[in-house]
Amino acid sequence: MTISILNCFTCNARIPSHWHTGMTCLLVETDQGLVLVDTGLGMDDYIHHSGILKVSRVITHVPLDPQEAAIHQIVRLGYKPEDVRNIVLTHMHFDHCGGLPDFPRAKIHVYRREYEAFLDRPRQFADLAYVRRHIAHAPDWEFYDDTGGKWLDFEAIRLPFEPEMWLVPLAGHTRGLCGVAIKTSNGWLFNASDAAALFNQEAPDWLIKLALGPHQPRIRQFAATHPEVSVVTGHMWLDWFEKNKNA
Ligand SMILES: [Zn+2]
Repeated sequence: MTISILNCFTCNARIPSHWHTGMTCLLVETDQGLVLVDTGLGMDDYIHHSGILKVSRVITHVPLDPQEAAIHQIVRLGYKPEDVRNIVLTHMHFDHCGGLPDFPRAKIHVYRREYEAFLDRPRQFADLAYVRRHIAHAPDWEFYDDTGGKWLDFEAIRLPFEPEMWLVPLAGHTRGLCGVAIKTSNGWLFNASDAAALFNQEAPDWLIKLALGPHQPRIRQFAATHPEVSVVTGHMWLDWFEKNKNA
């Protein structure tokens, strides 16, 4: 079982200028073919820039290299795009699900509340990062509701794959954001997505809470007390991707 870690959206802050980040996508070999956890931008995003992407390019430096699209990276790893039979979304912001149209035959697994937030009128600033055309191809959806299940310390929903995978609801950054936990040969890989920015020791707590919601202290504590769990987040420093191509 292999998990490849891909950076599918480089985004560098203007201030502070040393904050260079990539966006975390996980490509997991499972009993049902490849599962992609989040997609990054899709090919069409590089041609037709959404409003939110234009805004992002004003606030930050976004190199917009189409070679970062998951579909290209998957081919470079020796797979075929149609090997990606399932996609799990942590949330539906443009930088996490823009690549859905590149995998039109994949089944899309998402927490129902996140899908409903995507379709609803914007209620919070972060909702402006939903881009309708990312689902215009009418994907094959699988929606998830709370089941009362648990993954370690968290309420969680079991996904139908081996190795064991769980959706971990962590609403805040969006109304239906979930982390994704994946069983590995020596423990767990937990992508807390945009519920935390553990790698960034410089961002003040108020900014994290404003942008990412209330979960960072709990996730930090969880990471400190569970050495068997490797915790990553939705956006990591660029050099981290170089060092961690395989989980
Ligand atoms: Zn987001």
